[in-house]
Amino acid sequence: MRRGFKAEAERTSAEVRSSLGVRETERLPLDQLAKTLGAELRSAAELVDISRLEEIERIQPGAFSACTFEIGTRRVVVWSPLSTPGRITSDVAHELAHLLLKHSVQEVQTVGGLTFFGCDPDEEQEANWLAGCLLLPRKLLVAELRRGSSAADVAEKYKVSIQMANYRMRVTGAMRQTQGRQ
Ligand SMILES: [Zn+2]
Repeated sequence: MRRGFKAEAERTSAEVRSSLGVRETERLPLDQLAKTLGAELRSAAELVDISRLEEIERIQPGAFSACTFEIGTRRVVVWSPLSTPGRITSDVAHELAHLLLKHSVQEVQTVGGLTFFGCDPDEEQEANWLAGCLLLPRKLLVAELRRGSSAADVAEKYKVSIQMANYRMRVTGAMRQTQGRQ
């Protein structure tokens, strides 16, 4: 990840929240963020038969989690209804992070007769990192930890996976910062 990107991502998360009128310690409404980016959020089950999705999952587990289609000026973020709710939140945030970062749609891959778009590894890393900042900004984590919240509490409140909550508490240094305080 390029130098300065992590700090920039925290700033982007703060800017996004303030433009939506959401406090830094509140859950980010992804549907509202999508709207401001001109994107629609759709479950893949609205576009293809669920049995088709299950078949793809059997052929290549995890092959499809979410992707963004650009159809003319329309942007549609499609997520898999087969994922857990926490995973769906992360996947949608990841796609919106790509849009915020103005990453362009690149390689195309086909799985089970359906076409998916991939991105380059640097862009994937950036989108992952920014998605984490959007969902769980450092300030939010520090506030939660000071309140005595566990990773499970954070996961429940912000609709993310426990793994994501743990990961962000660790990599942002929020855990270290609040250790020894209650
Ligand atoms: Zn991506």
